[in-house]
Amino acid sequence: MATPRDHAPLAERVEELLAAEGPLPIVAAGDPVLRRGTERFDGQLDPALLARFVEALRVTMHAAPGVGVAAPQVGVELRIAVIEDPAPVPDEVRLARGRVPQPFRVLVNPSYEPVGSQRAAYFEGCLSVPGWQAVVARHAQVRLTGEDEQGRALDEVFTGWPARIMQHETDHLDGMLYLDRAELRSLSSNASMAERWTQSTPEEAAKELGFELP
Ligand code: ZN
Repeated sequence: MATPRDHAPLAERVEELLAAEGPLPIVAAGDPVLRRGTERFDGQLDPALLARFVEALRVTMHAAPGVGVAAPQVGVELRIAVIEDPAPVPDEVRLARGRVPQPFRVLVNPSYEPVGSQRAAYFEGCLSVPGWQAVVARHAQVRLTGEDEQGRALDEVFTGWPARIMQHETDHLDGMLYLDRAELRSLSSNASMAERWTQSTPEEAAKELGFELP
């Protein structure tokens, strides 16, 4: 006979994390929590605890700073992520990458599917892989479905940089890192990025480092 799922351990883990003030510690690649995937959110945290957890994710994302943080990146195996991108980039980059500002939002149980077959390749990085960036070819447009933190249905099409952020964060919830999808020959340290690959698109990097673009 099935027994009701015990929700206590996850809630306890989150309470423990929230006991400390300020940004939460970010888990780095190599920790199995980033590879195990997540449980669908189904009330494991009561509304007050969920609100506190989401706020802690927001503070953590701002402090990093980053444009998204997924729950496994703070060691919590729940299908929840937050994103926000003020897009503080030059107009040239904004245009080339479709990097338009995204307001703060909470993704609960998100999943995505491609819209059309177009792909876009740019350098991206991850707070769990500090110091490095690599080119990832991703769907140029995706349909994201899921819920927000109030349980309201989310069903929206994203393009450009926001589409990239949604795919990167949702992949975290499936136990994937951007490196799983990256052109590994493009792997560049932050110092190399600053010295060489400041162009708004990765064509020159592709030629010099020897990798394919879609
Ligand atoms: Zn990441």
